[in-house]
Amino acid sequence: MATGNRYTGLIGKYADRLPLSSDAAPISLGEGNTPLIRLDNLVRDIGKDVELYVKYEGLNPTGSFKDRGMTVAVTQAVAEGSQAIICASTGNTSASAAAYAARAGIKAFVLIPDGKIAMGKLAQAIMHGAEVLQIHGNFDDGMRIVKEMAETAPVSLVNSVNPYRLQGQKTAAFEICEALGRAPDYHCLPVGNAGNITAYWMGYSEMALKPGEAGTQACKFCEGDCQFHQAAVASRPVMVGYQASGAAPFLRGHPVEKPETIATAIRIGAPQSWDQALAASRESSGWFDEFDDEAILETQWLLTSREGIFCEPASAVSVAGAIADIRSGKIAEGSTVVCTLTGHGLKDPGVAERYADAAVSTLAAESSAVKEAILGKMR
Ligand SMILES: *Cc1c(COP(=O)(O)O)cnc(C)c1O
Repeated sequence: MATGNRYTGLIGKYADRLPLSSDAAPISLGEGNTPLIRLDNLVRDIGKDVELYVKYEGLNPTGSFKDRGMTVAVTQAVAEGSQAIICASTGNTSASAAAYAARAGIKAFVLIPDGKIAMGKLAQAIMHGAEVLQIHGNFDDGMRIVKEMAETAPVSLVNSVNPYRLQGQKTAAFEICEALGRAPDYHCLPVGNAGNITAYWMGYSEMALKPGEAGTQACKFCEGDCQFHQAAVASRPVMVGYQASGAAPFLRGHPVEKPETIATAIRIGAPQSWDQALAASRESSGWFDEFDDEAILETQWLLTSREGIFCEPASAVSVAGAIADIRSGKIAEGSTVVCTLTGHGLKDPGVAERYADAAVSTLAAESSAVKEAILGKMR
């Protein structure tokens, strides 16, 4: 048997913080443990004294943070004897469900909206062998149907209304506290179905409890000297949620009937974790804001071209918001700010098409032509 320090995913690392029974066999692809990257170039451009980081969740096994929740949800479903899982999805949940179901040897049914799903995500669901059911409706219609299916058909629901999903997703907050040695002052993230903002708040809240305090779980492995206990932090961040203007129910104060945005991962009009997200915002003295598609794409381009980080459009809204709020002073100078980049840019390669004309030059296959092009572009 191999010894050493192989990272085996977040159930392996955070078993003592997750409500799984100890005999549940983890279904894992090594998710979690993603980098926290400091954005020095963008901060220099803004000219304010802040520390700005991104938690690059696009580097999870299927390219989005959904894997954190899926490993726990699928592990629990299998432990309960489930033979099939189901979800509604704007794309990333279905990609993740498909992969973890394949690994577990069970069936995945994924309901996707009519059109408007990024090609990379659909490709993943297909390649992992999921049953893809495309409905003539949007995500919110799909959500209503899968909740019914979980009641009436032999399938386990793995959308973020499944509490095991949020349990897994909260571990991103643990990792951030461990990396910084404290909690950030602000945490900014895109809000769609509002599960992730709920999960981060749960994670930060658990992290802020000192060992032995009411609300802490007994650690199975230590007497208060494990990595989690050592990283216990004194404070929690202000939670800031950003939405796309065409799908911004938290800004409107009510569900949005026909959500529209290029950021398909957050094209959701009736968030399932509405009350929890509002509570996180209120308890942390946070706020919500919105950005239009143009601002979202502009920020995605800033991240790719200035920092070398390719996230999908939905993810970029967190940085669009952070930059705007740092500029305006709403996020004070001297702050440490973390933005979640929820998914990888390769999920949605279609957005690159809009830049292709400017980026791609077509030349004769001759050194002279290539040299002329190089010299021209260096000017
Ligand atoms: C799922 C998802 C979101 C939205 O997260 P919620 O928990 O639904 O608020 C944002 N970005 C990406 C890339 C996603 O996959």
